[in-house]
Amino acid sequence: MSIGRERVAIQALPAYKPGKAAAQGDSGPSAIKLSSNENPLPPVAAVQQAVNDAIAGINRYPDHRATVLRATIAEWIGVSPQQVTAGNGSIGLLQQLFLSYVDPGDEVVFPWRSFEAYPIFTQLMGGKSVNTALVENAFDLEATASSVSANTKLVLLATPNNPTGTALSTTEIAEFVRRVPSSTIVVIDEAYKEFMNPALGDSVHDLLPHFPNILVLRTFSKTHGLAGVRAGYAVADPELIATIDKTLLPFAVSSVAQAAAIAAIVAFDEIKQRVEQIRLERERVAAALAEMGWRIPKSEANFVYIPTGEITEVTFATLEKHGIITRPFPGEGIRVTVSTQDENNQFLKAMKTVAPS
Ligand SMILES: *Cc1c(COP(=O)(O)O)cnc(C)c1O
Repeated sequence: MSIGRERVAIQALPAYKPGKAAAQGDSGPSAIKLSSNENPLPPVAAVQQAVNDAIAGINRYPDHRATVLRATIAEWIGVSPQQVTAGNGSIGLLQQLFLSYVDPGDEVVFPWRSFEAYPIFTQLMGGKSVNTALVENAFDLEATASSVSANTKLVLLATPNNPTGTALSTTEIAEFVRRVPSSTIVVIDEAYKEFMNPALGDSVHDLLPHFPNILVLRTFSKTHGLAGVRAGYAVADPELIATIDKTLLPFAVSSVAQAAAIAAIVAFDEIKQRVEQIRLERERVAAALAEMGWRIPKSEANFVYIPTGEITEVTFATLEKHGIITRPFPGEGIRVTVSTQDENNQFLKAMKTVAPS
C-alpha cells in the first residue's frame, strides 16, 4: 500500500538501521550495547550541570546560528568563527552538504564499505554513488582519486573509517586532494578524531590552509559523550561554511545541545582522560583478538572491526546469546565498540567461544 505519491528516490531508499538498542536484544535489558560506538560513561559532571541549567530556558527558541558555540569551537581549535558551523550532529551537517551541493545525477565518490549514511543521502538527492573497494579493510586512495570526474561534487572520506577503524594521515589526504579538481569538495569525516594517534596529523591545521575545497566534519557524539543531544561541527573556508549554512534547519541545534557542547569543550581535559582509557582498552582488546587468531585492522577509533566473513551472522548471534550486542555487516565483519574494562572482558570471554574463520 502506498499513501500519497512519494518521490521516486524515496521509494527506493533503504531505511537507516541504527545500532540495535540493548533493550531490544534477545538477551534482555541487561545486555551490553557495543553496537553504536557511544561513550560508555555518562557525561562529566560539568556537562550535566550545564544541561540542567539550560533546561530553565527551553521555553525560548535557541540561537539559530549557535553563535557562542561556534565562537567557542573556533577558539578551541584555533580558527576564525567564520570557518565554523554547528549542526544537528555531524549527520545533520552531512545532510546540509548534500542539500547544498548534490543535484540529481551528480556523482558522490566514497570508498565502500564506509559510513552507512553516505549512500542513503546520495540516493535521497538522486545523486550517483561511485564506490571504490577497500584493500585489507583500508581505503585505496589511488583508486578513489582515479574515480573522481568532472561530475563529482563530493568525495567522502571517513577517517577513522566506520566500520573498519583504519585512518589516513594528513600527508596521505593532501596527496589525494592534489589529484582532485578544486571544484570538488572533499569531506573529511572525523567523528572519532580524538581517538586517533596525533602523529597522523591535524586536518584543520595541516590541510585547510592549503585546500579551500576541504571540509572537516567533527562531532560531540562519540568522544564527548553527547550522542543523545545532537551537536556536530564543520570547519572549512568561510565561503563553504556560508553555503551550507543556507540549508541549516531552523534551530537545528537545541539550546540544551549548545550548552552541553560548550561545557564539554570547557571540560575537555577531563574528557581527554577518558579518551586515553578507551585507547588503552582498544589496544588491549585488539591484542586479545589477535591472540585468538583474528586479523584485526589497526583501529584509530573507539571500536574494533573483526573480519568474520561468512561466519558474521552466527558470530553475531553467539555474542547476542552471551548478552553482547554488536554491529554485524553480513558476509563481511562485525564492529564492536570499545567500552569499559569490565564490558570489554565480557565481550572477549564470549568471543572465545567463536572459532576464527
Ligand atoms: C557516528 C558517526 C557520525 C555521526 O555522528 P553524529 O554527530 O552523532 O551525527 C558521523 N560520521 C561517522 C563516520 C560516524 O561513525
